[in-house]
Amino acid sequence: MRYSQMLIPTLREEPADAEVKSHSLMLRAGYIRKVAAGVYTYLPLCLRVIRKVENIVREEMSASGAQELLLPIVMPAELWQETGRWAVYGKELLRFRDRHNRDFCIGPTHEEAITDLLRYYVSSYRDLPKNCFQIQTKFRDEIRPRFGLMRGREFIMKDGYSFDCSAEKAHKTYDEMYDAYKRIFNRCGLRYRPVEATTGTIGGSRSHEFQVLAESGEDEIVSCTKCEYAANVEKAELRPSSPESKKTEGGKFKKVETPNQKSVEEVCSFLKKKSTDLVKTLIFETDKGPIAGLVRGDHVLKEAKLKDAVGCEWCHMAEENTVKEVTGAPSGFSGPVNLAIPVYVDHSVADMKDFVVGANELDLHFVDVNISDFKIDKYVDIRRAQAGDGCPKCKDGVYEEHKGIEVGQVFYLGTKYSEPMKATYLDEAGESKAIYMGCYGIGIGRTAAAAIEQNHDENGMIWPLPIAPFHVEIVPLAKDGEVVDIAEKIYRELEERNIEVLIDDRDLRAGVKFKDADLIGIPYRIIVGNKGLTDGVVELKERKSGDSQRVTPEEVVDKMVEMVSHLG
Ligand code: ATP
Ligand code: MG
Repeated sequence: MRYSQMLIPTLREEPADAEVKSHSLMLRAGYIRKVAAGVYTYLPLCLRVIRKVENIVREEMSASGAQELLLPIVMPAELWQETGRWAVYGKELLRFRDRHNRDFCIGPTHEEAITDLLRYYVSSYRDLPKNCFQIQTKFRDEIRPRFGLMRGREFIMKDGYSFDCSAEKAHKTYDEMYDAYKRIFNRCGLRYRPVEATTGTIGGSRSHEFQVLAESGEDEIVSCTKCEYAANVEKAELRPSSPESKKTEGGKFKKVETPNQKSVEEVCSFLKKKSTDLVKTLIFETDKGPIAGLVRGDHVLKEAKLKDAVGCEWCHMAEENTVKEVTGAPSGFSGPVNLAIPVYVDHSVADMKDFVVGANELDLHFVDVNISDFKIDKYVDIRRAQAGDGCPKCKDGVYEEHKGIEVGQVFYLGTKYSEPMKATYLDEAGESKAIYMGCYGIGIGRTAAAAIEQNHDENGMIWPLPIAPFHVEIVPLAKDGEVVDIAEKIYRELEERNIEVLIDDRDLRAGVKFKDADLIGIPYRIIVGNKGLTDGVVELKERKSGDSQRVTPEEVVDKMVEMVSHLG
């Protein structure tokens, strides 16, 4: 392609509203343009990257036995009502009415649509297994779209769905998809980690996220220093303690005044205690009614872990009026003593003695409380894991923390969708059974953005060769004469040998061309100038290392062919 003919509107200035590097570089390098919050146009360079990522995904999905189809973006409400998600998905689901006043939504994910399709075609075990995927534009009305393609509202996703006739087979398919994901992200040239994850609004019982390690990541993950275990902090398990052995005498607690002292810091400094001497009592509303969750003062309670531990459908922090209703006091003074709702206690609280809790009365706390002073429904693992915590899977490892960008996630769904939607098959004995499902997503644009987060410098992007918009850019350093002749010859030969090449044929100063070349980040650059040509050579420069070699025009073509041949 010729630079002069392409739409590559690079900017010299740093865009004002870009908080992360991939966002600002995509804007500056002329890859994307914002149309509305979280809605972008993909300009030609960006689309080339998107297509590269899509093709790697497509090849690996096909190689593992999945077949591509395309479901509609628009779906009727009835499908979502069948699974109950029309009611629970919330505001992220963009809903609208057609001219006949019928309800529709724009797909944020497609479990309902695919299950509807398969229930129509699958009747017996002979029709299974099936594994289908699509690459499609999704819409989620995210509360805070930001970071460019990383968290858009409209974005491209690969979503896949598998259908098997037993839980065991469905888990095997899950494992195959997990392996395909590893091949995909390896081929994209990313440093990533698969981690155990919670299942959110998609549901199901087993899940892994593929997290690209980057400081700008919104996800927090922990990994063991000794074994393979790694998990999102929403999920990460902790070593249980043995609460029974630690029971201490109760009955010695006293009420103390804590006027206007609500937060852990306020109460602790007022009572001259450490945050590790206090137990926080947090009130939640769930589909099973209000509950209390207890964690040590310096720990963070994770709602997702509490939801799993309690086994409820949904769970969120109680509103102020509910707190008053169930404890008799405003928030800040809640405590477990004589509390009439179920009390879930984090394991680490079992190790504590003579601690501080709220007294369920305004401006009052109890001190010297012990766990035998209140009724405990269950000891649970509900606190956020942090660096230094012991790994629950091996004896001697501890957690380290990382930031990650979730580029993909795989879910074992079981019969969560097939049961309500009656997607069944007849087994060999002629008995009707619900189909076992899994689902598998990859954010295509987010993967491209994550690649930039991991690969850039102060001058611009540095694309990994497998997903770069072009393999090589030719920069001729003159307007005409031998320089242009040789540059054009190299250009033609590279094209003939299927190397993706961009030639900067613009009538601009070398400095401007180099600045743009650095910004758009094509992995290799061939510089053709009069000086080199007097020795019969051109310069082949690697964007990443900055290393350059002087080679003849013939050699440079062979070298590029050689480099690209490794992509497979
Ligand atoms: P997140 O937790 O980041 O909101 P999610 O877990 O809701 O994502 P999934 O339902 O697992 O997302 O969707 C599959 C993949 O789609 C994600 O792994 C991610 O790569 C991508 N994705 C999800 N939401 C967005 C978004 N708003 N913008 C870009 N990509 C997204
Ligand atoms: Mg996810």
